[in-house]
Amino acid sequence: AKALGRARYHVFDPIMYQEAIQLLEIENDLRRAVARQEFIVYYQPIVSLLTGKIAGFEALVRWQHPIRGLILPAEFIPVAEETGLITSINTWVLQSACQQLRLWQHHPAIPDSLTISVNLSARLFSQPNLMAQIDEILYETQVNPENLELEITETVIMENSHAVKTILQQLKERRIKLVMDDFGTGYSSLSYLHSFPLNALKIDKSFVKRMQENQEDMGLVPAMINIADSMGMRAIAEGVETTEQLAQLRSLNCEFAQGFLFSKPIEQQSVLNLLTTAPQW
Ligand code: C2E
Ligand code: CA
Ligand code: CA
Ligand code: CA
Repeated sequence: AKALGRARYHVFDPIMYQEAIQLLEIENDLRRAVARQEFIVYYQPIVSLLTGKIAGFEALVRWQHPIRGLILPAEFIPVAEETGLITSINTWVLQSACQQLRLWQHHPAIPDSLTISVNLSARLFSQPNLMAQIDEILYETQVNPENLELEITETVIMENSHAVKTILQQLKERRIKLVMDDFGTGYSSLSYLHSFPLNALKIDKSFVKRMQENQEDMGLVPAMINIADSMGMRAIAEGVETTEQLAQLRSLNCEFAQGFLFSKPIEQQSVLNLLTTAPQW
């Protein structure tokens, strides 16, 4: 509906008009995709730098488009956010990831401690029944909530703090872990962050990238790891692509790392193979 409004407003600008039409097409396409469940969850390993082994996986959604093939989130999440379709997509991802976690938890070759991290859109927090939905998924799948991590962004915390605090508190009571995603890219103050029950800070890949480019001072990553430490949270570095970055993060006592160096996101069927063949990093 927003896309249509924009089209009407800029009706004399042919480029804006084209863009709006395209947005509308994606929106319609996305509606159909939600109805037909054209999504698939990929999994990317998160490595413990203490043990050098895979500690868990982050669930990352992809759209299996009947004509265009696999579409990455950057192309449809923004439209999904704008149209509100993200709530059904995201709930589906949470449900699939929990079903998968349940299967993995029963597999003899998979450690009981394996975690699954699921991204939660800020839009989910304005749904009054979010907690009921999460409880239903926990009940249906019978996963151990301690193995479930939910990744939220600073936007979630900045918006509507009382309602959000209540939900985060309830998640904590269920022993679900909470991760601040893309740490360092938002605008929340540290004292504000500190007042939320977070278990980990995920250092955004842009900072990890700059660490590599700027060998001398390593940029902001050491400070971010210290912040996590001093707030009693774990640090997870994302976007780790080189062995140099890995060595630097290890020397800084960063606890977890994720990135193409270890593996790109993979399909569920490849997870077992990766777990049994992955080197000790
Ligand atoms: P994110 O949560 O920050 O996820 C990390 C993104 O970085 C993923 O992109 C991942 O494939 C990519 N990545 C991993 N390792 C590396 C690396 O070494 N180098 C580089 N350059 N990139 C790396 P992806 O899968 O395309 O997802 C993009 C974003 O879409 C995610 O960013 C997240 O914000 C959103 N997203 C994905 N799945 C979901 C979902 O189920 N729900 C919601 N609400 N958002 C999702
Ligand atoms: Ca994430
Ligand atoms: Ca990120
Ligand atoms: Ca993100």
